[in-house]
Amino acid sequence: MKMEGEATTLKRNLTEWRFSQYPKYILLPIDENHDQIKSNIKNVVFSEVTPRPLERNIRLVCYSEDALNSILDMDPEITTREEFAEFIAGRKLPYGALPVAHRYGGHQYGLWVGQLGDGRAHILGEYVNRHGDRWQIQLKGSGQTPYARVHDGRAVLRSMVRAMIAAEACHFLGIPTTRAAGLVVSDETVVRDVFYTGNPRRERAAVLLRLSPSWFRFGSLEILSKTGEVAVLRQLSDFIIKEYFPDIHLTDENRFIRLFSEIAHRTLDLVAKWQGFGFTHGLLNTDNMSLLGLTLDYGPFGFVDSYDGGFVANCSDGEGRYALAKQPDVVVWNIGQLANALKPLLTSSQQVHMSHILKTLDTYCKNKILETFLMKIGLKEERWGDEQLVEKLLDMMQQTGADFTCTFRQLAELEPCEMVSEVKLDEKWSLKRLSSHASWGCWLDQYRERLDKEAGNFKLLDASSAGLFEDERRRRMLSVNPVYIPRNWLLQEAIVDAERDDYQKVRFLLDVLRRPYEVQPEAERRGFSAQPPQWAYALKISCST
Ligand code: AMP
Ligand code: MG
Repeated sequence: MKMEGEATTLKRNLTEWRFSQYPKYILLPIDENHDQIKSNIKNVVFSEVTPRPLERNIRLVCYSEDALNSILDMDPEITTREEFAEFIAGRKLPYGALPVAHRYGGHQYGLWVGQLGDGRAHILGEYVNRHGDRWQIQLKGSGQTPYARVHDGRAVLRSMVRAMIAAEACHFLGIPTTRAAGLVVSDETVVRDVFYTGNPRRERAAVLLRLSPSWFRFGSLEILSKTGEVAVLRQLSDFIIKEYFPDIHLTDENRFIRLFSEIAHRTLDLVAKWQGFGFTHGLLNTDNMSLLGLTLDYGPFGFVDSYDGGFVANCSDGEGRYALAKQPDVVVWNIGQLANALKPLLTSSQQVHMSHILKTLDTYCKNKILETFLMKIGLKEERWGDEQLVEKLLDMMQQTGADFTCTFRQLAELEPCEMVSEVKLDEKWSLKRLSSHASWGCWLDQYRERLDKEAGNFKLLDASSAGLFEDERRRRMLSVNPVYIPRNWLLQEAIVDAERDDYQKVRFLLDVLRRPYEVQPEAERRGFSAQPPQWAYALKISCST
């Protein structure tokens, strides 16, 4: 909704819209010799390179009204103009664009693989919006860069629909994330062997307009450290501190330790959020780990349906390295790689200090996750036995195959009078399934008692105060347990239609997920919070994007 006085600031066409004159990244070393794909680029953080526009029949699939309005100062009317789709397709660069691809490396599936970099993404420039916030505007799927290696520089519609919806959904769920503002598709095709089974097929190429304050990753620092480019490593680390961590002083001799600690804790706060929504990133390589603690690079991700800690979203992850319940450990491992990357900037005593911080991270993460789950079941502070209460609930969910999202939501919706094991739960399909567990009655009694303890002070007063407590608890629970998440089956249905050029489901899903905590009649009618269809449980998500 437009606020009064904003009418004049929101841009309706691209000629009025321009990048900030001086993107901060021009202060970092940029390779201007940009024509070829190179496996061994040195001493730069970016390579200057123009997008290769999508050709042939470009269409706008969808856009995020919120991202356009609140980040880019654009009136949604701008999307009705052809130039908007051309902008996302890489054909029309707004005034002031200085396109670059970022050089980074990474550990993939636990192994150092050397240089990766933006092989198919272009940061076009930076935009400082009406709130004074600086955002980097990026196209993904916009052609080969020097970092493309053997790849074609393109992205397919299927995976960009997923990335678009997931980024915006995570934002509205309250998960720190990079954003997606718009998506275009063309008739240009590329070949993908979706499940790497020797069955390549043609798919249409798409470009996603992504937004983030910064696209730096753990791998941005790792590559400089691994190749011994210590001067650039120091320059980039100082740049990151100055631009993104203003509470750390550039004159502080412990600034790199502070930077490390801040990134480590922000990243674990993010993991706790992921666990609380059953979000499985699917490809937690260090090149996909944001230095700002944001969810980055939505590929073979999945929100778990029936709860299973062993849920693996990415069908290429045979060993389950990135399974849902393993995310905290693997992210701590990734943070260990970030620590290694920063070592050349530290004295030996600072290195000892850093290893002490590293040793505290498992416990920090475990506590954050517990805190998240306590909030989900309506408890404000941890008391003795709470950890077991949560563990038992997850065990019962795992053993009964109860739905993760709906179990918590339906627990939030339970009236106090329903909190006895004899009560029929026909309306609450996920709790009904959970209640088939032999320990359900016992767990519910314990949960009820625990809530009573929390309500203790209120109960001493009178019945209406106790009622107030119940209302407040339910409100709290309903505000952290969503009704809607971007389930794989919903995405899949939207993709099937989008591939036939019918974008209504994509747009509807985006719209519903703007208010994930609110029951919406049309979404209910379409079964968005009902038991997923049987085929949903067998869906496989590929990392071929
Ligand atoms: P991702 O799996 O999207 O995080 O990508 C891992 C690395 O492979 C990054 O360096 C990407 O830029 C690169 N990459 C993946 N697909 C392509 C493609 N089609 N063209 C160019 N580079 C790609
Ligand atoms: Mg990536």
